Amino acid sequence: MSNNLLADRINALEESATLAMSKKSRELAAQGHKVINLSVGEPDFKTPPHICEAAKKAIDDGFHAYTPVAGIPELRTAIAEKLQRENKLDWKAENVLVSTGAKHSLANIIEVLVKKGEEVIILGPYWVSYAEMVKLAEGKSVIVDGAFENDFKVTPEQLEAAITDKTKIVMYASPNNPTGSVYSEKELRAFAAIIAKHPNIFVLADEIYEYINFTKEGHFSIGSVPEIKDRVITVNGFSKGFAMTGWRVGFIAAAKWIVDAVDKLQGQVTSGTNSIAQKAAAVAFTNMDAPKMMLEAYHRRRDLVIGKLKEVPGFKVRIPDGAFYAFPDVSYYFGKSDGTTTIKNADELSLWLLEKAHVATVTGNAFGAPNCIRLSTATSDEKLVEAIDRIKAAVITLK
Ligand code: PMP
Ligand code: GLU
Repeated sequence: MSNNLLADRINALEESATLAMSKKSRELAAQGHKVINLSVGEPDFKTPPHICEAAKKAIDDGFHAYTPVAGIPELRTAIAEKLQRENKLDWKAENVLVSTGAKHSLANIIEVLVKKGEEVIILGPYWVSYAEMVKLAEGKSVIVDGAFENDFKVTPEQLEAAITDKTKIVMYASPNNPTGSVYSEKELRAFAAIIAKHPNIFVLADEIYEYINFTKEGHFSIGSVPEIKDRVITVNGFSKGFAMTGWRVGFIAAAKWIVDAVDKLQGQVTSGTNSIAQKAAAVAFTNMDAPKMMLEAYHRRRDLVIGKLKEVPGFKVRIPDGAFYAFPDVSYYFGKSDGTTTIKNADELSLWLLEKAHVATVTGNAFGAPNCIRLSTATSDEKLVEAIDRIKAAVITLK
């Protein structure tokens, strides 16, 4: 079958680089190679027992039918209470809508808000799927890059300079994927002051890594700033904080008219999220031991990985304040060769590392940062040490 039978929108769409690299790594492992997969960002922990128990009970209780499109009331209420308690977000259950993962939540929002040709300012480096979602919605991504020297963070001046009369949304993730950078309360308040001056601009705040934050100050939700509250859509989910990637539960919190629009879209495309997963997620916040334990583990691994990466000649390394990624600048190796292959860019270095060192990483290009590669630190200490040893042994052969 030929691509010209497919819709233009799908031909124009890039494959998800994180998932593609993970697939390549599985293929190599299936051929018998001992691959260490640091490509996909996914907790290596199990979902906490109280959540699994709630799922088992839901199955046994026969909770098997369609749910309301926006989610079961007890889950929407549990989320609204969490947002009030932890994030100072003044939303009720009717302002919460549950979807099939935060990825789905983000796509829904972009789909319902962005009109053809409208601009979405994406604070870069950014997660692979953002720009592609904007493309699907026929919007235009405007990438504003945070400088390596500024912890990969965009300044308020940069944001202000990027706003035009076509700007519809400003979107960002904090803690960030791929950089691990965390925007402080002060920085986010400065962004909020700019947004407040533009009554037609919305903020899409991706807070999926909220619980993986190593700063003393902790997490700040921009939606808690009263002046712009009605124009902030907060996206979060259970995948990272509760190690629930496969359960597929994410949510938005937003003004009721936005929730209603997503309800209409979701009602025609996917319906309510899996009933068992919703029952499970509804009890998640009743026991926060697991997120705390995982935070400590990610913090320890961050220190381990950054320490090891600093020993790799030529790698420029920043210390991430959150999430579970390291994002070294590897451009020192561009133009260098192993005698057969010359590494031209981060795409090639990432593929070369997979072939030579059997370590799967993701090229920074996929995140709008062509000098970097991303390594997930969500795996065991032993594997992390071995992976970086292998990377180091490989790259020092490049001359
Ligand atoms: N946002 C960011 C920044 C992410 O890294 C991810 C993880 N892939 C998501 C959203 C989506 O997470 P999920 O769909 O598993 O809830
Ligand atoms: N957040 C993960 C990553 O960036 C999951 C993979 C994905 O959904 O793209 O690797």
